[in-house]
Amino acid sequence: MRRFTSVVLSILVAVACAGRRQAPPLAGPSSAPVMETPARVALIAAPRGDAEWNALSDEAAALLSQYLRINTTNPPGNEIVAARWLAAVLQREGIEAQIFEPAPGKANLYARLTGDGSARPLILLNHMDVVLASPEYWTVNPFSGVIKDGFVWGRGALDMKGEGIAQLMTLLILKRARVPLKRDIIFLATADEEIGAGVGAAWFVEHHADLIRGAEFLLNEGGMTRANGRGGVDYYGVGTTEKSPFWLDMTVRGTAGHGSRPTPDNPVHRLVRALNRIADWGGRTPLVVTPAVERYFRDLATVERDSTQRRWFADIRAALRDSVAVRSLTGDIAYNALLRNTISITGLKGSDKTNVIPPLATAALDVRLLPGQEPAEFLAELVRIAGDTAVTFRPQGPSWPATESPTETELFRAILAAAQARHPDALVTTPMLAGFTDSHYFRRMGIASYGISPFPLTQADSRGVHGNDERVSLEALRFGVRFYYDIVARVAAR
Ligand SMILES: [Zn+2]
Repeated sequence: MRRFTSVVLSILVAVACAGRRQAPPLAGPSSAPVMETPARVALIAAPRGDAEWNALSDEAAALLSQYLRINTTNPPGNEIVAARWLAAVLQREGIEAQIFEPAPGKANLYARLTGDGSARPLILLNHMDVVLASPEYWTVNPFSGVIKDGFVWGRGALDMKGEGIAQLMTLLILKRARVPLKRDIIFLATADEEIGAGVGAAWFVEHHADLIRGAEFLLNEGGMTRANGRGGVDYYGVGTTEKSPFWLDMTVRGTAGHGSRPTPDNPVHRLVRALNRIADWGGRTPLVVTPAVERYFRDLATVERDSTQRRWFADIRAALRDSVAVRSLTGDIAYNALLRNTISITGLKGSDKTNVIPPLATAALDVRLLPGQEPAEFLAELVRIAGDTAVTFRPQGPSWPATESPTETELFRAILAAAQARHPDALVTTPMLAGFTDSHYFRRMGIASYGISPFPLTQADSRGVHGNDERVSLEALRFGVRFYYDIVARVAAR
């Protein structure tokens, strides 16, 4: 009896003093002392001291610096080196990781923290590969991982090794603090995001769907946290949906000949005429308001200063019945991409020689479809517009209809709460991505997937993504590690 009372008492004391109690540090290698099981309230409502979070963010910076030194430029990617490094970091903490090698030098890494199974798993998805960096345009070696002037520099700092490290730190903190979990947390680091298909997420869901089956949620890149440059954040964009790429090769065959004697079925002429019709139609494909886009404009209306724009945003469907509004809205390339299927003609090829009529002329079309649009239906329409039986279209790869993740979920609410706790005045909304990430593989499995950016970035900071001097500030990293942990703890801690 007495024993029971004292246990209850000490729990109560622990909860009551959670904010003030001196606990062993969470930072450091796994040999460091591990704090006793913290109360949920201590983890979420009253996070531990700033000093401890600073130490964790220093650790994140050191890990990111090491990670950036591993050159995973894709192609070839060589992600196996990154996967082995991640596995070693996880193993040091007592977390076993599995590495899958779908092809020589390629790898996907999978690790799992187990919960009590009362809720379904959450996947933290990140890609290990990066795009090409041209050192001559950089002020530092893009693979030096150097920390200077308050930044960690290197290709992948933002896209997306930095976010990968925020996810990794979340896993390490949960493990070190022995946070009781209600759901499993799956850490999934993949190859081949930057080249579209390949043997990354696509390969993983095809060959190892069993390892993630039943997952309820996923966090990935594809969001945006906009810093206002005055130390605050104005805007949190959470990715709930993205357009679906439907890239096409277009071919016309005809009769080859000498350029000095024009032929009636010169395939280049026919291609150009068909492309002309397609380019024209591309500017007037039907305007479609998807639920996510309608919500996004409504959210924008709450912060829009211009009264006309505000009225249009507040009821975008009504605005699109007004020709003045349509001209203005579709004149903005970002809004235009949210409101219709788009076509960009990006490639053209005829003859290599000026005086030779080729037997074949080709073009490449970058088509992006809104959620709810069927690729096959769009293709049928395109064939009709091209209006020439000599023209054939061939999809460059597999296509899929874009899908949306709902916002009425525990994870979305957690993201919202974590953002609002930090910046109560910021707009938290769901912009549709005109590009795409690997999230679609998981959305199609019924897993609610959200794109978030843990790092507050100004417009200038974002230019490093696929650009030069990609870097993340130590301040953004400090923010991001805690922000990511906070979101995950809210939905996973028991
Ligand atoms: Zn990326």
